[in-house]
Amino acid sequence: MTTIPVAARPDMAPIAIDSRPEQAPEGSAAAAVLATPLTALRQRVASAAPAQVDRALRAARPTLDDFAALLSETALDHLEELAARAAQITRARFGSAVRLFSPLYLSNECVSTCTYCGFSASNTIARRTLRLDEVESEARELARRGFRHVLLVAGEHARIVSKDYLEKVVQVVTPLFAQVSVEVQVWDTATYRRLLDAGCDGVVVYQESYDPGTYSEVHLKGKKRNYIWRLAAPDRAAEAGMRRLGIGTLLGLHPEWRSEALLLASHADALARRWWRCEIQVALPRLRPAAGGFEPSDPIDDRSFTQLLCALRIFMPDLAITMSTRESPELRDGLVRLGVTSMSAGSHTEPGGYAESSDAEPQFEISDTRSPAEVASALRAMGIEPVWKDWQRA
Ligand code: SF4
Repeated sequence: MTTIPVAARPDMAPIAIDSRPEQAPEGSAAAAVLATPLTALRQRVASAAPAQVDRALRAARPTLDDFAALLSETALDHLEELAARAAQITRARFGSAVRLFSPLYLSNECVSTCTYCGFSASNTIARRTLRLDEVESEARELARRGFRHVLLVAGEHARIVSKDYLEKVVQVVTPLFAQVSVEVQVWDTATYRRLLDAGCDGVVVYQESYDPGTYSEVHLKGKKRNYIWRLAAPDRAAEAGMRRLGIGTLLGLHPEWRSEALLLASHADALARRWWRCEIQVALPRLRPAAGGFEPSDPIDDRSFTQLLCALRIFMPDLAITMSTRESPELRDGLVRLGVTSMSAGSHTEPGGYAESSDAEPQFEISDTRSPAEVASALRAMGIEPVWKDWQRA
């Protein structure tokens, strides 16, 4: 049992997090997600009247109930007003700037079986894990292309993508980047602290689906089956001292995207309250085709996707919102003023591929294939400044 000494608000009692809790630790953001009154919020979505949407649009401090009203079909009829309000908030809080980052895939080895993922252990694909010298040349190529923010990504293989390996990788890339985050298997607090000490300061953990039934249906084998352990990972990362916490839900796994959005927003809100010194980032990935024949059912169309983005921006004005190359150039460019604050560009979703071509299997197909320079140029043409670096370790 460890006590959280940092980052909890001074007016809150310290909370305790077991290394392997069977339930969400008391006082954690994960516990707040589990306590979310989802049934009442879904009723608000289903029954929101125009006056409630209007109130949510003008609220100085919107609540989750307001967020639910903004997700309703009624609000969809007012999408232009949502977009105008979201654009106004984005301009006021973030100016006309978008941070650019790149994923760097380290390994597509994985011992888990997830139905939607190209790296799934059940898929017969070309597997590869970058050696440290390969990591360095990939990182140098990304730095040469202008990136100063990198996201290290790997499948779940505790022996091949071990704590020691990740620690060494972080040490190799840290001199080249101002900010290093990881999107790898979830770890305990002590391991997050090791990665922090090596130079990493951000952790991204998509819950994939907040619905326990769907979660269990799509995560067939492996450690990832533990819903609670994953849900509490951002709390453990914050406890370790990580500065940026990224969360997300894979839109397309669960048929009711609004339920997922409600719990995602609840999670972001709880993290922001509990870990108020951290930057909270949310991603809204829509599923893409992947090896193994997975084809997403695509339950959220572009219009509803825009509604979700605007509602999130209105609900949490300071929230960092990430949009990856999963989305088309047209949609990414169109949504950038409405709330997106960070974008990947020129991404490869297989290990290698930047310094030299790679024949390893990608995790999923990307949609925006423009180079980083082309994305930066498109942003400038819209009057938006591409930001390659907004943070420097002291
Ligand atoms: S989603 Fe993650 S854990 Fe699941 S198969 Fe893909 S890489 Fe492995």
